[in-house]
Amino acid sequence: MSSRPYVIDQMISAKSIAARIEELAREIESEFADTDKLVVVGLLRGSFVFIADLVREVELPLEVDFLEASSYGNSMKPSREVRILKDLRGEIEGRDVLVVEDIIDTGHTMARVVAFLGARNPARLRTICLLDKPARREVDYKASWTGFEIPDKFVVGYGIDFAQRNRNLPFIGSVRFIDEGSSPAGDGCDA
Ligand code: 5GP
Ligand code: MG
Ligand code: MG
Repeated sequence: MSSRPYVIDQMISAKSIAARIEELAREIESEFADTDKLVVVGLLRGSFVFIADLVREVELPLEVDFLEASSYGNSMKPSREVRILKDLRGEIEGRDVLVVEDIIDTGHTMARVVAFLGARNPARLRTICLLDKPARREVDYKASWTGFEIPDKFVVGYGIDFAQRNRNLPFIGSVRFIDEGSSPAGDGCDA
């Protein structure tokens, strides 16, 4: 599918992302000011750039861990199976956990991840997503903090891929096929 020619239209600049991360970091600092047991959990792979920038802005003692979840199925099928492909390395029982996600789309992934981690009895479980597409929601889920609400467009950059490419773009852009002016289906098959 990536053989069809496309262009990327910038939606959120690197500068806007950096400014928003500074604001979010201050909110996270006040939420977790009372703890030295914070574990920041990045959802692979899409959140790797976001978590890297976010943790460097947060002036608190913290640990970083990663979880990989994948949703199978396609955009035609509303109920999806979200599988945990890679578990955390560390224990989270009794600890404060901040889950970092790139995009909340239908909400299935975050609902599943929060249930999965919540079952381990963390002291606090909070979530942050860089991007939220509320128009696409199928499962009622709202992150504790959201970077930007965006329209229902397929986006890339800043860690987020299209067929594994474009993760290294420093900004968020939307994909537009040159031939039809259409966008790829946001089926989220690979996180
Ligand atoms: P959800 O379970 O909320 O539908 O899926 C969220 C996941 O779908 C995101 O973590 C991301 O991996 C993928 N996804 C949703 N929207 C987009 C998008 O616009 N572009 C890309 N590359 N992935 C997306
Ligand atoms: Mg993906
Ligand atoms: Mg993801």
